[in-house]
Amino acid sequence: MSDCIFCKIASGETPANILYEDDAVVAFADINPQSPEHILVIPRKHVENVAALSPDDAELVGRMVAAANKLAEDRGVAADGYRLVFNVGRHGGQAVDHLHLHLLGGRQLGWPPG
Ligand code: 5GP
Ligand code: ZN
Repeated sequence: MSDCIFCKIASGETPANILYEDDAVVAFADINPQSPEHILVIPRKHVENVAALSPDDAELVGRMVAAANKLAEDRGVAADGYRLVFNVGRHGGQAVDHLHLHLLGGRQLGWPPG
């Protein structure tokens, strides 16, 4: 999608602090971090959110989670724990309509979320 900010980051048109990428997914630092490590993992292809996934996307979601787990290890937050979050829609707090998995770590996170 030509006007989607995360499609532009995935294509390289818009700069971001890219921390991992492969043929299917891209991970980059969140521009407004909510924890010492706050990374977004996105698919290269445009999908609105997890509610818009099809059964054919099962492997893609698995690769997003695998990339997030690897980043948590590589960036030193795995041992103490971290959180992976998909926000969906307005009540879920989704502001960018391109599927993204938040990796939050590096501090004690509260529960329940606000
Ligand atoms: P959402 O609220 O949709 O689940 O999360 C969107 C996230 O994307 C927010 O945490 C926000 O800070 C981040 N974000 C929005 N625009 C940009 C951008 O242009 N670059 C980067 N790196 N992060 C962004
Ligand atoms: Zn997009």
